[in-house]
Amino acid sequence: MGATVEQALEQLKSTGVRMTPQRHAILSFLMNSMTHPTADEIYKSLSPAFPSMSVATIYNNLRLFVDAGFVRELTYGDDSSRFDADLSEHYHAICRSCGTIVDFDYPPLTEVETEASRQTGFKVEGHRMEVYGQCAECSRPNS
Ligand SMILES: [Zn+2]
Ligand SMILES: [Zn+2]
Repeated sequence: MGATVEQALEQLKSTGVRMTPQRHAILSFLMNSMTHPTADEIYKSLSPAFPSMSVATIYNNLRLFVDAGFVRELTYGDDSSRFDADLSEHYHAICRSCGTIVDFDYPPLTEVETEASRQTGFKVEGHRMEVYGQCAECSRPNS
């Protein structure tokens, strides 16, 4: 599992990034969220508490967190980017109807890297896989 919000904040501070209440709120929201939110969703959730915060502020902060390596940007399809603060190795199942992203894990898949390396001579550094379909909610009959 990833670092705690406090650890992440300490690390950011050590790189000279000034910690603001907004910044803290955005990072906590991401780290406590399992939903892989878009910048818009973060904005909607936080704007009641931070009425003066703009979507641009959210984007700038997300960019900063991505660059600092605390957050992963997910670009699937042509939808707006989603953000994931869980940096552990995991895969995503993506719903084509509602865009929901659900985490799952399948450790045997790392053998793919060994096999790829054997067949190609590459020094393999990682791989990416996504699964697409209808989420449990969307595939439920007469919902
Ligand atoms: Zn769905
Ligand atoms: Zn994820």
